[in-house]
Amino acid sequence: MIRVLSVTPEAVPLVKTGGLADVAGALPAALAAHEIEMRLLMPGYPAVMQALSDEAETVARLPDCFGGSARLLAARHDRLSLLVVDAPHLFDRGAGLYASDSGKDWPDNPERFAALSWVASEIASGLLQDWRPDIVHGHDWQAGLAPYYIAQSEAAGRVRSVLTIHNIAFQGLAPASKLGALHLRKADFTPEGFEYWGQISALKAGLIYADRLTTVSPSYAEELTTPEFGMGLDGVLRQRAAALCGILNGIDRRVWSPETDPHIRPYKTPRGKAANKDALQQEFGLPMADGPLCAVISRLTDQKGLDLLLDAMPALLERDGQLVVLGTGEAALEGAFRRAAEKHANIAVHIGYDEPLSHRIMAGADAILVPSRFEPCGLTQLYGLRYGALPLVALTGGLADTVIPATPATLARVPVATGVQFHPVSAQALANALGKLCDLYARPKLWLKLQRNAMAHPVGWDQSAAAYAALYRDMLNPS
Ligand code: ADP
Repeated sequence: MIRVLSVTPEAVPLVKTGGLADVAGALPAALAAHEIEMRLLMPGYPAVMQALSDEAETVARLPDCFGGSARLLAARHDRLSLLVVDAPHLFDRGAGLYASDSGKDWPDNPERFAALSWVASEIASGLLQDWRPDIVHGHDWQAGLAPYYIAQSEAAGRVRSVLTIHNIAFQGLAPASKLGALHLRKADFTPEGFEYWGQISALKAGLIYADRLTTVSPSYAEELTTPEFGMGLDGVLRQRAAALCGILNGIDRRVWSPETDPHIRPYKTPRGKAANKDALQQEFGLPMADGPLCAVISRLTDQKGLDLLLDAMPALLERDGQLVVLGTGEAALEGAFRRAAEKHANIAVHIGYDEPLSHRIMAGADAILVPSRFEPCGLTQLYGLRYGALPLVALTGGLADTVIPATPATLARVPVATGVQFHPVSAQALANALGKLCDLYARPKLWLKLQRNAMAHPVGWDQSAAAYAALYRDMLNPS
């Protein structure tokens, strides 16, 4: 049995602001089958403290924890084994996990997550008498200092560390004046250490000091080492390229399975989509059409490349294709999609965040469009595969790794394709891809085969869990 302490600022079902929470929440159960015992170390935010049952047990006291006293609580929740840092001076506040109601980051975020990381290193050093991890697995900048603290502690060389990058854009910067407050050695405040252009970077500390690094797809792991995607840390990542690998996220099949989805007319084969498509067209007031019903379910931000879709739309409309958009985000994009819907009978738009509707769209759509400029892993294309809504995606990050593109080779005798990919990420290339999608859609037997391929493509956590398990084993017994 390998013992892993997962150090995370979020985990489903307790608290979530991004995909990291899904990964942290799903991994423990998926890893149990691989003889890996994973416990989660999390901050005691109000939402976490309220969710703990009366059975939560104080397993350690930390009288001097970054400006106040704290307790470490052990509890079970759902299928998770939790260790919670109950430090009211750091975590007992309303509003968001990282920011106040006004949207401003808490000024003591560096201390808050240094504390989380420091408690991880204390646990690695034997804080708990009956449980000590073999590996500390941190997530994003919030756990970035854990590998550093471990390297300075008596656990150094005995407990291994790995850091997963979910979002390179957040780097956990703090002014140099906080060196002392964060228990960091001045000697390591150098470009070879955790210094980043005159500031402390918690993420960089993790990238430098962790034994291994992972991110959420193999392609994104490569992209991160380039200036275009590395957000200033590509140099560090090139230096550590041998320690970096990509492991795809999975989806929660309890929530995303067309056979059992309570939000739709359940189906086992692509033919079952017809009733859902009728219902979706009715719901959105769309007419019957000869072309494919395409969908977007997305944050409406620059990352997602949806401005390109607006430009490429004629390629879909001239083939009598349709578009349903569910999304919220930048006002300019929201307005542009609203106007497009007013102009064209074949375009319908719902501005807002609506989980049940996202299921109905996946079930009813023929294709799901994901023209992202960058995409570390991406979930919508995985749901699309599962629901037989063929993904049309940009050739980047996790999108490149999860969709088998339609090409002469993948469409030959026994077609293996599961979707359409385009490159470069431009309106012209996207327009061409939409044309290709319409060509495929006009060949019903081939289309059905591609849908079958898509629905059979493995997108759950099994494969990813096996990859993490293999990584842990390799860390303990390098091959
Ligand atoms: P990102 O994390 O960059 O937003 P992902 O594809 O990894 O992109 O995950 C986005 C998740 O949010 C998916 O589960 C998607 O279905 C969901 N989602 C995005 N926008 C909406 C919306 N307006 N309504 C419902 N679900 C949405």
